[in-house]
Amino acid sequence: MFIDPSGQTYICDEGCEENLGRRQYTVDDMAELYGVSFNSGWSVTNRAIAMRAVYNIAKKLQKERNSAADAAYQSCLENMSGPTSTCSQSTPIVTSDAFKETYHYGIDFVWGCSGCTRLGITSGKKEHTIMFRAFYTTGDTMLRNTNLVMHELGHMFNNLNSWTARSGTTYGPAWSLTTDLAANRDGFGEEFVYQQSDDISQSEIFADMFVHWIQGGWATDSVLSQTAANARIDWLNRYMPGYLP
Ligand SMILES: [Zn+2]
Repeated sequence: MFIDPSGQTYICDEGCEENLGRRQYTVDDMAELYGVSFNSGWSVTNRAIAMRAVYNIAKKLQKERNSAADAAYQSCLENMSGPTSTCSQSTPIVTSDAFKETYHYGIDFVWGCSGCTRLGITSGKKEHTIMFRAFYTTGDTMLRNTNLVMHELGHMFNNLNSWTARSGTTYGPAWSLTTDLAANRDGFGEEFVYQQSDDISQSEIFADMFVHWIQGGWATDSVLSQTAANARIDWLNRYMPGYLP
């Protein structure tokens, strides 16, 4: 197992430091930096896959946060009205902070969920815990399992950004999907690669759309309706920035 999540540091199995002859960055160092913990059931390979999912999300959150800050700064410059007006440019956010601020500084990845019927589960009641019964073992397991972890982190994103009013109505990303997006699975990529569920529910559809938002695309040859895919992309581009800190 050898992946380079940042372009600057390396993450690999035990023993790679002596093989590569430079200071290494272990999967556990990375987990600590991102506020992630694993119980003892996780193999190194599966921990690295989970951290790859975390890193993909962190990069996207960082990009969105920094481009919003840049846009605010540009707009300030364009609207300067007098000689004493000032605009300040904020320090760009780093990936780990972008991730931790959105995920409230703590995720527990638990390997083992004997009662689970699905591969993974994210409970709204245990807001920092994601449990996995198993990972995919066939096909492109790196892609499928990374997408599976991102899907669960999509549920957590939804839970952390949802609230229920006194009337009993719940608000949040999944609950804001329009009927044309929530009532079908049109426009998604291949099932159990780009979709981790076949449920027609707001929560499951949002979690699969979240994976798309992070990746910036489904494999287009498996998307049956590009028009429907574009409608999902338009929704994500329009509403997701509003849920970031
Ligand atoms: Zn799900």
